[in-house]
Amino acid sequence: MVKIHEVRAKSVLHKTKIPGEDWVINHYSGCMHGCIYCYARFVCRWRKQNEKWGEFVDVKINAPELIAKESKSKTGSVILCTSADPYQPIERKYQLTRRVLQNLNPKMKLGILTKSDLVLRDVDVFRRFKNCELGLTITTLDENIKKVFEPFSSSSHARLEALKKLKQEGFYTYAFIGPILPYLTDLEEIFREVSPFIDLFMFEDLNLTPAKKEIFEAIKKNFPGLEDKYRNLSKEFWLKKEKEIKGLGKDFNKPIKIYFKHTGSLKFR
Ligand code: SF4
Repeated sequence: MVKIHEVRAKSVLHKTKIPGEDWVINHYSGCMHGCIYCYARFVCRWRKQNEKWGEFVDVKINAPELIAKESKSKTGSVILCTSADPYQPIERKYQLTRRVLQNLNPKMKLGILTKSDLVLRDVDVFRRFKNCELGLTITTLDENIKKVFEPFSSSSHARLEALKKLKQEGFYTYAFIGPILPYLTDLEEIFREVSPFIDLFMFEDLNLTPAKKEIFEAIKKNFPGLEDKYRNLSKEFWLKKEKEIKGLGKDFNKPIKIYFKHTGSLKFR
């Protein structure tokens, strides 16, 4: 059972060190998607309540008013979000992402990344922005693997369908393949199935540190044959993955961006 807390925030627009981005909006804190590997679970450390990641969402109910003021004179790029998915299930009720986007300065370059096909609801609002990039995360097209690692988000095929529709609507679209799940993410299949609906692929390696316990529990339970392989992941493994991605990018004639911590290709500003 996910506990919803309505809170009033002092601010929702913050500077970010994410490569290529200037600002981030976090109007939700906590995410109902409950991904096993989630890097945002550090948010738990700052909260007074003793609730685990995936069991709470703080809804910053004054975010639409705040963003109107905070973004008014801002320029540069802004992304949603880093401490939640902007289209997690609670968004159906609160419509907070939608209202934030309705009030956001349309001169800013908008970047959305989600694991939900609810993103399709807001096509009319995205049109406010001259410069807008819409991304769906796809870590696998195998629904059984998806259910293990991203239990409460849209199915991989619903996300693929969302990319297809956003492309048909004329938007710049990208697929975020991250984190790559070693020995489980089929990169060639993803290139084959996803390429027709996107302008760009982005790739991220799996960082075990934020959720080591959760990832190993999931591997042990569902893919016991991979336990040792996950313990022995090395820089060489990720260098080979980079090579594979570059080769596939050429084969499918698609631009790629690689953000791998283990090989040094991820550089925070
Ligand atoms: S959708 Fe993103 S923020 Fe939400 S649990 Fe998954 S990885 Fe974390």
